[in-house]
Amino acid sequence: MAQDADCLFCKIAAGTIPSTKVYEDDTVYAFKDINPVSEVHVLVIPKDHYPNAAAVAKADPTLIAHIIEVAQKIADEQSDGAFHLLFNTGEAAGQTVFHCHAHVLGGKADAAKVA
Ligand code: IMP
Repeated sequence: MAQDADCLFCKIAAGTIPSTKVYEDDTVYAFKDINPVSEVHVLVIPKDHYPNAAAVAKADPTLIAHIIEVAQKIADEQSDGAFHLLFNTGEAAGQTVFHCHAHVLGGKADAAKVA
């Protein structure tokens, strides 16, 4: 799997579109969501292009596990270590960018809290 020249998040991972970087390594990139819904709202993406989390899990289970590890690291650094992890998958579920991304949501005013 490689990059998609028309994909917004491929461009963000490559640095051709600016973002507020939170974390980066060889396989993933994390940056602040442009429209945060909680005190901590970071997106963790694979650098390679996959349309959603299920596609990553199928092609490279180690990579989806790594995305979750990075989410924990971000929550530890930016909050108290507690976080919601959200993968919108499919247009009807609210996915608007079709490059796998984990929403890491935490801190005060966490809008993702459910009963
Ligand atoms: P989705 O609805 O799960 O696909 O989430 C896409 C997320 O990407 C939304 O929360 C947007 O606010 C966020 N987003 C869109 N464009 C940018 C950008 O250029 N920088 C950072 N976040 C973005």
